[in-house]
Amino acid sequence: MAEENCSHIEGITIVKQPEKHECEDCLKIGGQWVHLRTCQSCGTTRCCDTSPNQHATKHARATGHPVIASAEPREQWLYCYSDDAFAEY
Ligand SMILES: [Zn+2]
Ligand SMILES: [Zn+2]
Ligand SMILES: [Zn+2]
Repeated sequence: MAEENCSHIEGITIVKQPEKHECEDCLKIGGQWVHLRTCQSCGTTRCCDTSPNQHATKHARATGHPVIASAEPREQWLYCYSDDAFAEY
C-alpha cells in the first residue's frame, strides 16, 4: 500500500471482492449501473459515481463505511471517502 494518509486503507489486509457483479440497490429499483464498487466494511457491491444512482457513495454516506474497492475486473484500487484517499494494491 503506497497510501500514507489514510488509516482506513492501511488497516485493510485482505481486499473484499464482490460476491456478485450487480448493484444490489439498482436491482431493487430496476436501475442501471456503469461500474461497480465493493464496500470494504460490509462486502456489499454498489454502483459508481458515473452511474445514474451513485449507490456506492450513498451507501458510504448513509453508513459511514469509508472504503470501497473497484469491483471491475483488472482494476485493483481502493478509495476512502472520509480521507479522499486512493491506493492501488
Ligand atoms: Zn481513510
Ligand atoms: Zn446502483
Ligand atoms: Zn458497507
